[in-house]
Amino acid sequence: METLAEIIVGIRSENLDRSFTYRVPQGMEIQVGSRVVVPFGRQRLEGYCITVIAGAEDKEQADFEYKEIEALLDDAPVLTEELIELSAWGAARWLCSRTDLLKAMVPAGLRFTTSKWVTLLEDAESETPELLWLRENGPVALAAWQKLFPSTVRANELRRLQQKGIIKLNNRESRGIGQKKVQSAHLLSAGQVALPMGKKQDLALELLRKHGSMALTALADVGVSRATVHSMAKKGWIAICEQLVRRDPLSGETFLATGSIELTAAQVEAIRQVGSACNRTGREVVLLHGVTGSGKTEVYLQAIGKVVAAGMGSILLVPEIALTPQMIERFVARFGRLVAVLHSRLSAGERHDEWWRIVTGEALVVVGARLAVFAPFKQLGLIVLDEEHEASYKQDETPRYHARDVAMWRAKKHGAALVLGSATPSLESYNAALSGKYALCLLPERVENRPLPPVDVVDMRQELKEGHRSIFSRALLNALEKVQQEKKQAILLLNRRGYATFVLCRGCGFVMRCKMCNVSLKFHLAEEVLRCHYCDYREPYPSQCPVCASRYIKHFGTGTQKVAEELQKHFPTLRAARVDADSTAQKGAYQKIFGAFKIGSVDVLIGTQMVAKGLDFPNVTLVGVVTADTTINLPDFRAGERTFQLLTQVAGRAGRGNFGGRVLVQTYTPEHYAIQAARTHDFETFFAQESKARKELGYPPYAVFIRLLLTGSEEDKVEGAASLLASLLEATEILGPSPCPLERIRGQFRWQVVARGQALEPLLLKVREAAETFRKSLFSGSVRLVLDVEPQSLL
Ligand code: ADP
Ligand code: ZN
Ligand code: ZN
Repeated sequence: METLAEIIVGIRSENLDRSFTYRVPQGMEIQVGSRVVVPFGRQRLEGYCITVIAGAEDKEQADFEYKEIEALLDDAPVLTEELIELSAWGAARWLCSRTDLLKAMVPAGLRFTTSKWVTLLEDAESETPELLWLRENGPVALAAWQKLFPSTVRANELRRLQQKGIIKLNNRESRGIGQKKVQSAHLLSAGQVALPMGKKQDLALELLRKHGSMALTALADVGVSRATVHSMAKKGWIAICEQLVRRDPLSGETFLATGSIELTAAQVEAIRQVGSACNRTGREVVLLHGVTGSGKTEVYLQAIGKVVAAGMGSILLVPEIALTPQMIERFVARFGRLVAVLHSRLSAGERHDEWWRIVTGEALVVVGARLAVFAPFKQLGLIVLDEEHEASYKQDETPRYHARDVAMWRAKKHGAALVLGSATPSLESYNAALSGKYALCLLPERVENRPLPPVDVVDMRQELKEGHRSIFSRALLNALEKVQQEKKQAILLLNRRGYATFVLCRGCGFVMRCKMCNVSLKFHLAEEVLRCHYCDYREPYPSQCPVCASRYIKHFGTGTQKVAEELQKHFPTLRAARVDADSTAQKGAYQKIFGAFKIGSVDVLIGTQMVAKGLDFPNVTLVGVVTADTTINLPDFRAGERTFQLLTQVAGRAGRGNFGGRVLVQTYTPEHYAIQAARTHDFETFFAQESKARKELGYPPYAVFIRLLLTGSEEDKVEGAASLLASLLEATEILGPSPCPLERIRGQFRWQVVARGQALEPLLLKVREAAETFRKSLFSGSVRLVLDVEPQSLL
C-alpha cells in the first residue's frame, strides 16, 4: 500500500492543464492544498496537491512507477480544499488554466523558482563598473544584474566573461518568501564580567550590558560585524537567538477605537436584510443601493461585527484605488488586530504574513482589493463588495476572473451572505435585483440630512461661442476663486489620461459615431480615417461638422499636467497636487499626497479616477470635472454607464462636512442622458434609458460576450488569425473581426472577435472548441489568443 497524490504542476501551458500523479514519500504530511516540489521531465517544479489517495493498491499498473514528490514547501497547506475546488470551477468559467488561478490565489512571494545567478570569480580582474559592482555586492540574480548593466544582456558578452573565467553562472532555487526571522545577540552571565580585547567587542559588550539584547543588524549599524558577534558567542559571552517577526503593513500607525454609531432606520433595515441572508432566511445576495454618504460603510462594519461575534470570517472588498488609508483606518479602528489587509501595494513579505494570519485563524476580517476574494478562511460568514460596479473587480490579465462571481460561488459554498454595495449599481446587478434574484435594499438619503451636492453642468460649446478657449470655464474659475477666498479645498477630475482619439465638434458637441454600433469612431492618424472598432466601418476625417458645419471639429483630450499648469497660471498661490498613475507609482507616494490634502497643506487635488473614490474630506467644497466627454466617448458599449458612475462617485466627494459643496461638470454634450441623470442624482432614470439601449443593441446584461483577442507583431498574420477564428465560430453570432480601439500596444497589433450568445454555458463550449482548433493552426506560433469571458472593456 502506498499513498499517491494528484498534483497540478505550476507551469503555464494550454496543453498541460491537467494533474499528474505522484507517490508520496513515507512520513510526508501532505494534504489537499499543500504546495510541493515535484520532478517534471528534466525540471523541478512547484505544484499544488488537489487530491490525496491513501492506501492505493501497490503498483496496480504493474510496470508503471510513479515519481516521488520531492519536498513539501510550507508547514501547513497554503490553500483550503474549497479554494482547490474553486480553481476547477473557475478554470471552466473563465476559460483559463487551473494553474493560473491557483497562482493568482496564493501570495505573490510564495513561488518555488529556479533562476540563474552570476558570481564573480575570486581572482578576476574587475575594473569595469558591472564587475566592480559584483565585487562589492556579491552574487546576484542574473536578471537583476542585467537590469543594472544592460550591456551584459548580450549573449556573446556573457559568454566572453564566462570563457575568460571572470564570472560563473549557476542555478539557484528559491522556495519563495518565508517567515521573517531576526537574529539577535543576548548577553550571558559570562559576558557580564568578560574583559574583551579589542574595540569592537568592547563596544558590543557595553551596548549589551545596557540593553540586554540587540538585533545583529543593529550591532552591524554601529560597526560590530557578524564575525565579531560569532566569535563572542564562541567564547560563551553571548547567545545568538532567532525570532519570528511579523511584517505588519500597518505597523507604526495608531488607530483610535470606535464603537458602533446609532443607526438610521434605513441602515437598521439594511442590517436586518444582511442578517437574514447570513442566517439563510432571506435571499443570499443583497444589493445595497445607497447614495454616496448614506452610511453604507457603517452597515458593512456592523454586519461584519455580528459575523465576528459568531467567530466566522468576513471579507470586505474595495476597488484597489478606493482602498485608501482612510478606509482601512475605519476597519482597524473597529476590529483592531482581527483585521488583515490584502492588496497589491503590500510588500511580498507583508502579504505573506497577512495570508498566514488568515490561515491560522488569527485574523477574522479581511479588508482588501480584488485578490482578497481568495482569503483562505475555513469558515466564511459574509462577503461584501463595496462599489460593486467597478471594472477593476475583473482582472485584466490571465486569469481574467471577476471577483463578484468568485464571491458568489464562495458564498454559496459556505452558506454565507454576499452584499453588493454601490451608489451606482452595475446594470447586471440592478437587473438581477429587479428580477427578484437578489434582495434589493435602499439607502436613499445621506445621513444627518446632509443634502447631496448640487451638480451644475457647464456647456463648453457656449464658452467657445463667447470666445473663451481655456480648459477652465468661467464658472469653474469663479468657483475656484471662492474656494481660495474661503480657504477650503477642491478636487479636479480628469478622465482616463491620454485617450484623445475620438472626434468632437467644439461648436455643437457632436461626436462622430458608428451608426450600426453606436460607439464613437476612432481617429487614425496615419490614414486620416475614422474607424469603428466593433464592425470595422470606416469614413474619411471630416473637414467640418456634419451637423453645424463648424470647423472646430477635431480629436480631443488633455492631461493632469496641463490642468496643473493652467491652474497655476490662474491661481499662483493655490497649492495643487497631481494624483495619477505616474505620480503615485512609488510606494507610499499615494499616502503622502492624501496625507497632505487631509492636513490642508494641499488645496487642490488634480487627478484621474483615483480621486473619485472613497475619500471623505469635510473641507472639500468644490468638485470640478474638467471634461466629462472623455469617458462618454470611449469606443465601448459601457461608456455611458462608466460616465454616470464616475460623475456620481466624484460628486459624492463634495459637501461631506458641514460647509456644503457643489459640483461643476464641464462638457460639450450636456444633453447626454448620463450627464443629465448624474446632474439630478437620478439612478432610476439612467438605468431605464441605458437598459433600453442595451436591450435594443443586444449588449450585456441582455447578452453574454466572450472576447477573443489576438495579438502579434505582424499585422497581416493577426488579421488573418482573426478571420480564421471568425470562421471557426461560424455557428455563433459574432461582432468583428475588427482591430481593437487600442490597435497597437508595445508593438503588438491587436484584433478582436466578440462572440455573443444568450446563455453562458453553450457559448463557453463553442469558444473553447474554436480556441482549441485555432491553437492547432499555423497561426498559433506567431499570434497569441487571449480569451476574455464577459469582458469589462473592449478597448
Ligand atoms: P457611504 O459608505 O455610503 O459613502 P459612510 O458609511 O462613509 O457612507 O458614511 C458617511 C459619513 O456618515 C461617515 O462619516 C460616517 O461615519 C457617518 N455616519 C454613518 N452612519 C451614521 C449614522 N447612523 N449617524 C451618524 N453618522 C453616520
Ligand atoms: Zn458641430
Ligand atoms: Zn460599427
